[in-house]
Amino acid sequence: MLVRQADALILDVVDLHEKDRIVAFLTAEFGQKRGVARSARTKFSRFAGQLQPLAKVRAEWSEKEGRDLVRIRDAQLIRPAALMQESLEGILLGTYLAEHMAQFAQEDEPSSHLYRLLDSTLEAMQAGVDPDLAARYLEIWVLRLTGILPVPRECPICGSPLGRRAALLENDGAIVGMECAEGQTWTPVTEGQLELLRRSGRLSLPDLAQDSPSTDTLRRTEDLCKKVRRNFLQAELRSYRVMKETLSG
Ligand SMILES: [Zn+2]
Repeated sequence: MLVRQADALILDVVDLHEKDRIVAFLTAEFGQKRGVARSARTKFSRFAGQLQPLAKVRAEWSEKEGRDLVRIRDAQLIRPAALMQESLEGILLGTYLAEHMAQFAQEDEPSSHLYRLLDSTLEAMQAGVDPDLAARYLEIWVLRLTGILPVPRECPICGSPLGRRAALLENDGAIVGMECAEGQTWTPVTEGQLELLRRSGRLSLPDLAQDSPSTDTLRRTEDLCKKVRRNFLQAELRSYRVMKETLSG
């Protein structure tokens, strides 16, 4: 049996039987893990309120070879998920951000980039950065870290520098020059979007928020990321669908 410790971001918490919970969490060192927190549902549990989605904890767990689930022994709160729990929008958005990690981080493989991305995004949101901008930043960076949305500088087909406008090819999710989009199904990528994609590549989220893009650019970029992501996963994230349906209803 192996006992491990790491800072962890809680991704998901599900009730198991009468007393226990199953907790998915993300660490920089060990990637994504799932574990049982025994008696976490009982009134005087030592886990108390620590195991909330998107809380940051110092976790200790034990692992046995060949077992999928680890056993969570301790969780000390480093940063609560308070803001995320305050409104329906916050809960839906939090679930959506967490599902990105569950989908793109591997089990037992170091995931320091994804970990740092989620950690710094949550930190910035707690410091008052607009959740709309924060969500777009995380979407862009998850796709960039996965290698499917490079910073748009030149057209990947002909190599020419991209001008003020570009096109997103619907069938493969690439951002190309207008001349290379001819004859294909595409949606426009505006100057504002290109600027956001480039600035987010070199600025931290709080720095990006100093000069926030327009609402129109944010909506278009949400749509662009949705298409690129769906093209890659061949499915939409469940939490995204739920968030959109709930908020439009
Ligand atoms: Zn081209």
